[in-house]
Amino acid sequence: MKIGIIGAGVAGLTAAYDLVRKGHQVTVYEASAQAGGLASGFRDSHWEWPIERFYHHLFQTDAAIIALTKSIGYSDKLFFRSPITAQWWNGHGHPLFRSAMLRLRGLPAVPVPGLMMTALSVLNYPGLSFTSRLRMGLAGAYLKYGVRDWRPLERTTAAAWTRRTMGEAAYQAFVYPLLEGKFGSHTAEVNMAWLWARLKTRSFKLGYFVGGFQGFVEALVATLKKWGGVVYTRTPVQGLELSPDGWHLHSARDTELYDRVIVTGSPQLLNKLAPQLSSDYTKRLRELRSMGAVVMTLALTHPLTEGLYWVNMPKAEFPFLALVEHTNFIESKYYGGDHLVYCGDYLDPSHEYFRLSQDELLERFLPALKRVNPQFDWTWVRASWLHREAYAQPIVPVNHSRSIPPLATPLSGLYWASMSQVYPWDRGTNYAVELGQRVAQEVLDSLSEAKRLTE
Ligand SMILES: Cc1cc2nc3c(=O)[nH]c(=O)nc-3n(C[C@H](O)[C@H](O)[C@H](O)COP(=O)(O)OP(=O)(O)OC[C@H]3O[C@@H](n4cnc5c(N)ncnc54)[C@H](O)[C@@H]3O)c2cc1C
Repeated sequence: MKIGIIGAGVAGLTAAYDLVRKGHQVTVYEASAQAGGLASGFRDSHWEWPIERFYHHLFQTDAAIIALTKSIGYSDKLFFRSPITAQWWNGHGHPLFRSAMLRLRGLPAVPVPGLMMTALSVLNYPGLSFTSRLRMGLAGAYLKYGVRDWRPLERTTAAAWTRRTMGEAAYQAFVYPLLEGKFGSHTAEVNMAWLWARLKTRSFKLGYFVGGFQGFVEALVATLKKWGGVVYTRTPVQGLELSPDGWHLHSARDTELYDRVIVTGSPQLLNKLAPQLSSDYTKRLRELRSMGAVVMTLALTHPLTEGLYWVNMPKAEFPFLALVEHTNFIESKYYGGDHLVYCGDYLDPSHEYFRLSQDELLERFLPALKRVNPQFDWTWVRASWLHREAYAQPIVPVNHSRSIPPLATPLSGLYWASMSQVYPWDRGTNYAVELGQRVAQEVLDSLSEAKRLTE
């Protein structure tokens, strides 16, 4: 059968990989110049490795993408490390999750089990009384190791649940920055199942690929092609039309007929491509809300922080929410000696950061770096890149599971697989892999059913 897939992000490529291995003719259409979607990278001329447009790492719990990496023979390119993550507090980046190896003065490093690491991180948390830390630690341990079913948790907001169990001080110091970092003005709406999933899957070690996530994506594309799959880049799909013979897919290249079509990407994209969808369904799509992302990447001539990889910044004090010094995770030698720093934020797509020029944003962001490192000077900035994406983080209010549309749309043979259907887990490349596998399985089931009916 002929299957058309719109979008060569991780979800679209994974679905294509599963379908092509079952003997189907699969074509993936990608609007951009390269595959990878939100996980794609860019490269300056003298860098050995590309870097992601939006900061990326994996967790050790990301089983689906780790298994896919193995399946395409790329496992030896995936490695895990323990970089330092921190919370900005009282004028400093305060390390939260140090290396999983604790080094005592003069002694060799000792491995510390995850549970003890969690306890140490909690006891180390800045700006909280001992009682608050204890309450936070007990509630955190219950969430990580005690909760089996997330469903009851989605009936309440993360703010209400954590205020009740951890107390106001721990909510303000720990939970609020975590939620605000992703959801901005929608922080109060986010449900507790999402926060549970986020804490549950976090690991101390973080994963990365040799050659970055773009390296992984290119390996997946190469394997797909070996199986006979086709990937067209720079080929935006402009519309879909249902006929008695199947789906006519109109792209910048031509019009092709497919038995099944999978759309990946935002609800707005699906609405635009398939205006034949019923008004009830399109209303449902419009009700799914999301945050956009604005991320500035700076190539600096000097390191910015003292070995910190990720620092959560307080919104009240800084013009961005995440400061990520990538080269404190991956050596700067892969980037021609540049020290790479991301300044990032999740914002409503109507926010002025989506309209300001790169120079205007640099004028907002760079003075803040002097507060991070008083030695910082504008002459340290060798180059900068600005990436913005309107559809970057779905918003997950109370009882969100009831609002998620199924992967099969009401139109026969048309499927939709997007970040908005990843839940309660926080969207990420691992869940894009799971999503691609799920939608491929649904397509395969429908093809088997159609074959059975004609026999
Ligand atoms: C700031 C930020 C940080 C992140 N950090 C991490 C992280 O640390 N770890 C992690 O695992 N994940 C992270 N993610 C999330 C991860 O990148 C996504 O969950 C994942 O890449 C989504 O894949 P996807 O295939 O579902 O969607 P996308 O990557 O959005 O793919 C959709 C594709 O469709 C294409 N497209 C759109 N319109 C058309 C059209 N008309 N015709 C053809 N093609 C079209 C797009 O160009 C795109 O390539 C992060 C995301 C952001 C924004």
